[in-house]
Amino acid sequence: MRIDVFSIFPEYLAPLDLSLIGKARRSGLLDLTVHDLREFTHDRHRTVDDAPAGGGAGMVMKPEPWAEALGTLARGEARPTLLVPSPSGERFTQAMARELAGQDWLAFACGRYEGIDERVYEHAATLMPVRPVSLGDYVLNGGEVAVLTIVEAVARLVPGVIGNAESLVEESHEDGLLEYPVYTKPASWEGRDVPPVLMSGHHAQIERWRRDERLRRTARRRPDLIAVLSSDALDKKDRAV
Ligand code: SAM
Repeated sequence: MRIDVFSIFPEYLAPLDLSLIGKARRSGLLDLTVHDLREFTHDRHRTVDDAPAGGGAGMVMKPEPWAEALGTLARGEARPTLLVPSPSGERFTQAMARELAGQDWLAFACGRYEGIDERVYEHAATLMPVRPVSLGDYVLNGGEVAVLTIVEAVARLVPGVIGNAESLVEESHEDGLLEYPVYTKPASWEGRDVPPVLMSGHHAQIERWRRDERLRRTARRRPDLIAVLSSDALDKKDRAV
């Protein structure tokens, strides 16, 4: 998968060199480039922002550097999907991460200040698919943290990035439920025991216990997820929990 990120703070994306994502980059599974938006300015001060039209607080990112930067992605036949982090975008979910993991090329435009001039969205949409994406209902200082989150959630679903693909299957949000509680050794610690069923070696019972815990935890912590679960996602024993 190819990923291009445009930001006025390329250093903010340094963690993408670490851990499994860094390894995937070094092995060639991920071809990820971070571009400095200021490289696409032509004045002495490398200006990327200006006062908001109509007045008001803060600054707005100018369209010209963005048009030039995004234009570099539209030279050949292939085009990326452009994801623009924004608190007014579509909510980022595990389902969207799965969908994006199937694409060959993603690009990200990191906003700062009060955001990017709206005409950039319209212009970019004439060149490539554009999706404004929100991490959640709160406001960050810039799109970089959102990009770190989205790239990590997407890249770990790209085949080969995580060694044991099975570990991805039972995770929270894959099928609408949260994950069951997990434990490791020692069997007893500070007066607290690992649930005996997990030490029983009885696979069917372990499976049932995990399923019950997923249902209980989801109902307790995220009743909104249970409310939208389709009825065929539940079996008879689930309904008894
Ligand atoms: N004035 C904007 C508003 O009220 O919608 C907020 C701008 S915010 C200070 C600057 C940048 O941070 C945004 O352009 C966006 O790139 C990023 N950002 C802030 N909150 C975000 C969120 N919840 N999800 C994704 N990106 C976010």
